[in-house]
Amino acid sequence: MTANAVRLGAIREARSFAGPAPFFDSAEQTGAIFGENVFSLAVMQKRLPKSVFKSVAATMQRGEKLDAAHADVVASAMKDWAMERGVTHYAHVFYPLTGLTAEKHDSFLEPVGDGTAIWEFTGKTLIQGEPDASSFPNGGIRATFEARGYTGWDVQSPAYILENPNGNTLCIPTIFVSMTGEALDHKTPLLRSQAAMADQARRVLELFGHSDIDNVVSYCGPEQEYFLVDSSFVNTRPDLLGAGRTLFGAKPPKGQEFDDHYFGAIPDRVLAFMHDTERALFKLGIPAKTRHNEVAPGQFEIAPVFERANLASDHQQLLMTTFRAVAKQHGMECLFHEKPFAGVNGSGKHVNFSFGNRNQGNFLNPGDNPHDNAQFLVFCAAIIRAVHLHGGLLRLSVASAGNDHRLGANEAPPAIISIFLGDQLADVFDQIAKGGEATSSKQKGIVSVGVDTLPDLTKDPGDRNRTSPFAFTGNRFEFRAAGSNQTVAAPMVVINTIMAEALDFCANELDAAVAAGTEFNEAVQALLKKIIEQHGTVIFNGNGYSDEWHAEAEQRGLKNLRTTVDALPEYLTPESKALFTTYGVFNEAELESRYEIGIEQYLLTINVEANLTEEIARTTILPAALRYQTELANNVAALTTAGVAADTTDLVTLSRTIAELRAGIAELGTALAGKHDEEGIAEAAYVRDSVLPAMGRIRAAADELEAVVADDLWALPTYQEMMFIL
Ligand code: ADP
Ligand code: MG
Repeated sequence: MTANAVRLGAIREARSFAGPAPFFDSAEQTGAIFGENVFSLAVMQKRLPKSVFKSVAATMQRGEKLDAAHADVVASAMKDWAMERGVTHYAHVFYPLTGLTAEKHDSFLEPVGDGTAIWEFTGKTLIQGEPDASSFPNGGIRATFEARGYTGWDVQSPAYILENPNGNTLCIPTIFVSMTGEALDHKTPLLRSQAAMADQARRVLELFGHSDIDNVVSYCGPEQEYFLVDSSFVNTRPDLLGAGRTLFGAKPPKGQEFDDHYFGAIPDRVLAFMHDTERALFKLGIPAKTRHNEVAPGQFEIAPVFERANLASDHQQLLMTTFRAVAKQHGMECLFHEKPFAGVNGSGKHVNFSFGNRNQGNFLNPGDNPHDNAQFLVFCAAIIRAVHLHGGLLRLSVASAGNDHRLGANEAPPAIISIFLGDQLADVFDQIAKGGEATSSKQKGIVSVGVDTLPDLTKDPGDRNRTSPFAFTGNRFEFRAAGSNQTVAAPMVVINTIMAEALDFCANELDAAVAAGTEFNEAVQALLKKIIEQHGTVIFNGNGYSDEWHAEAEQRGLKNLRTTVDALPEYLTPESKALFTTYGVFNEAELESRYEIGIEQYLLTINVEANLTEEIARTTILPAALRYQTELANNVAALTTAGVAADTTDLVTLSRTIAELRAGIAELGTALAGKHDEEGIAEAAYVRDSVLPAMGRIRAAADELEAVVADDLWALPTYQEMMFIL
């Protein structure tokens, strides 16, 4: 048996995968399954008494508090509906700070003491659960209080059924807090931040004369990128199995340089996967909309239609869970890591967002009359202020060991947070800054707020600056720095909170001006001018990938928090503490806990990667190289014995690379041994500066070896195989 037998077996298996049993029912009417497994408003309307339905609907649509007396009625209807669909268990689902999804399953079954049992689900169990909080990261919060944590039903996110061949589960989306109410999850601050933003947005809307103001919400449409790799390869790559990314692998002879993958024909096997995932998403009421190939081979994207941010965030997590499960059924692994393969594009998750409500629509929609335009400009200016003041927090919201490989790596925006407005909108603000007198090259005399109409911004020819982390795209902004593996809740929390501050500022300024007798449109004009003067430096329409931008951004005083270690301290700055406590999104203990958890997650991730690097280098790569070295040496010896001049070049080069590999392994050992001399953020910085470079050194040597060692000795599936055999 050759050393590469396992690898060859994996290739054979990947090539011969027959596909899963088709579960696409052709008799099924397209569209009929949408929302089939969701306890939606429509289902509730049919099943609940009118008064109860009204109360739940008010909670779902307007965020009003749910009448506790109705919980029993809702729970009972929910249970009946679920049991009709083969449900035996219910689960409170929440999103702990690991970034994963957690669920604790309980049966409806209640023994009644006479040897029989009934199926019960009460309002109390619907509304509240008590998972043990000690098993989830809490960053020190738990130590001060108690192990108990509570989950609480997020009424705005409907319950749904997760199907499994062995029984279905009723899932109840919840928040997760400690016994004393500190947030231990991503959902709690998302709801708090949304409420804070809504309060301030309402003030601005009132100033613009609206009286019928419905509950304001933030909307989010996340675009998810991912890789698909045949399972047989993943199973033979300990790095993919353990770290979700390849720690070794030479660049393939053919990569993405032909640009032949993006929007190309989707391979049949992948299309089958997409059909099945979308069907599963539709059943859960998740509006999957767009799908296509991405830039790298084996890379794809899915984008759902945008929804309320808290619902979008739940749906996003559910989408990732669904993708992983369905991929397995199709003999593939879905990789959500930000950089599974070095040298080709990584994966992001663009967070498209806007604000609005049912009566006033999308506030980032320019509208078609001067009055609407003025309101739109105030919201835009608020974003400019928010991003300029708190770019560090936006960077922080997407900080992770995985995303560090991607940000600024010529495929994703740099860690510097700037705003792209597009030529036309930038021009409008330019003119406002100049006092409304200047004539523009783009459009004349459009800057008198409340009088003139804006150009059609959705048709902006300047469009699509892919290099900007924060871009206006016609009726929304797109935050492009989020990583593919991350929850959209974290960036949405920051976006909502910094908008709350900026809208608060705008409302105060306008209030004061109007109170002093300034005409409203003039007050708006002055406000816009002030914001653009103070915060206009955050606007950058050029190439964010260029070196010049890094230099210029520094001159402009914009932060460049390159790594997670640089970004994490943003949790604890006086500005952050003031911001989050003022708007009731995080208290100081919660901020500190998130900082601690951020460090912990970073250290855990890199520790696993370092251990895997060492193990694979020692047990797979070095042995292959040594065997080949012996082969070459034997060859040289045999030739010499035979009196033939032997060429030792290959042997010498190989031996040098082996020595370099060994030196790397030794360096990593030393680096890992010195790790515990430091603690907290210092340990994280040490790991970044000592462990990661040592891992890089090992990899560089190993990848060189891959290119020279005889192929029949190489055990790890190659990049070529993993990315091109689907
Ligand atoms: P593009 O190619 O322009 O990025 P995509 O169709 O790939 O467009 O994705 C756009 C994403 O933006 C979708 O998820 C879409 O639902 C979302 N989106 C569109 N309008 C809004 C909006 N007003 N607010 C939030 N998200 C939006
Ligand atoms: Mg897109």
